[in-house]
Amino acid sequence: MSPSAAEQRQPRVYMETYGCQMNIADSQTVAAVLRRAGYAAAERPEDADVILLNTCAIREHAEERVLGRLSDLARLKHRRPDIRLGLLGCMAQHNRASLVEKAPHLDLVAGPDSYRRLPEMIGRAGFDPAVDVRLDRAETYADITPEHDGSVRAYVTAMRGCDKFCAFCVVPYVRGRERSVAPEDLLREIRELAQRGVREVILLGQTVNAYRFGDVDFGALLRMVARVDGIERIRFTSPHPSDMTERMIEAMASEPKVQPYLHLPVQSGSNRMLAAMERGYTVEQYLALVERLRAAIAGLALSTDIIVGFHGEELSDHERTLALIRSVGYDQAFTFKYSLREHTRAFRLGDTVSEEEKGRRLAEVIALQESISLERNRAAVGNLFPVLVEGPARRGEGMLAGKTPQFKTAIFPARGARPGDIVNVRIESATAHTLVGSIA
Ligand code: SAM
Ligand code: SF4
Repeated sequence: MSPSAAEQRQPRVYMETYGCQMNIADSQTVAAVLRRAGYAAAERPEDADVILLNTCAIREHAEERVLGRLSDLARLKHRRPDIRLGLLGCMAQHNRASLVEKAPHLDLVAGPDSYRRLPEMIGRAGFDPAVDVRLDRAETYADITPEHDGSVRAYVTAMRGCDKFCAFCVVPYVRGRERSVAPEDLLREIRELAQRGVREVILLGQTVNAYRFGDVDFGALLRMVARVDGIERIRFTSPHPSDMTERMIEAMASEPKVQPYLHLPVQSGSNRMLAAMERGYTVEQYLALVERLRAAIAGLALSTDIIVGFHGEELSDHERTLALIRSVGYDQAFTFKYSLREHTRAFRLGDTVSEEEKGRRLAEVIALQESISLERNRAAVGNLFPVLVEGPARRGEGMLAGKTPQFKTAIFPARGARPGDIVNVRIESATAHTLVGSIA
């Protein structure tokens, strides 16, 4: 569809998002703020008046990618100096002092609590860049309904920030202190999403199960969301092992809409490392929690995050991580080489494991997890799963893709099914990452 004359006169904004689901959700909030201020979306940077990168600071590599992208965009700005180029999010907050020096072509720099002020910042940006990286203990953007992309699944931010201060992690410094969105605001947003065809919501927060607003804790919130008509599936990420309450486990076990899948980051299988990381639990406590969860929730799938090569990690600690992965038998794991981050408690300790050795340990963790993922997926062959259809599969003519309750990707011949349908799929074969089957 070609843009109307009114749309042609509107300034256009192009946005790229890096990092976690929280950033995807934040970009949808930014899009809503800018639409209210009269901006239209551009599909390509070349068509835009304003280009924004919403960034991640969790590892050095994430920051390097953005700096590389910024130098590409600087060439475009050189040809069209009227373009306003802005950096948003965690990297803006993390590098507030040095960014304008490192990337002199930036016109604006806005941290995660400054998005409401973006329209005036864009207006102000000119000879000097507009910089706003104030953290705000109260900002939840509760009154702003994020732009939704039209898919059957939507991210909904339930809480922002983090108070845990794990020794390796920059999140509390760049996203500020923990704060929860009022349940009535969340429910209003989720009802609106349901009316627009969303069937599944993923509640988001860095430690989402630390959610609390007045008397409403996370278990109570799950039950409230389960009452919203039209929403068939509820998920959330990431829960912290220390904030897992009985009330929350009961809600997961008894509310059929809450899906049997948990991403439960462990980080390491060594108590010495967990203490140094200041994670707040031991291996034994984590394993006892996994046992409780599996006993309470039928068909539960588990995934995790693992960091290899943290300060002081010996081979014996690494072996313990491998042993923990084997003993839990995760369905999936997200694995990272430790990256030293300025401002964190572990920063001054430095690195003790070489990049090469981190690479070796990472490869070992990945190989082990791949074999376990394959084994667990193969165990699904022959079984029937209700799959929420999302859309065409990336590969395979006439194939659809969707997720099982355990958040595994299933692909199958369409046979008339449409996005938003829940169909029963019998699994016929499996790889470590995908289940293949047919509608039963
Ligand atoms: N809040 C979540 C939690 O604690 O479970 C995790 C949020 S963080 C965005 C996602 C993952 O990035 C973490 O679980 C951790 O494995 C990884 N991570 C965080 N800081 C890191 C660092 N300095 N180096 C490598 N990986 C890191
Ligand atoms: Fe980072 Fe720890 Fe907070 Fe997760 S819980 S965001 S790892 S500080």
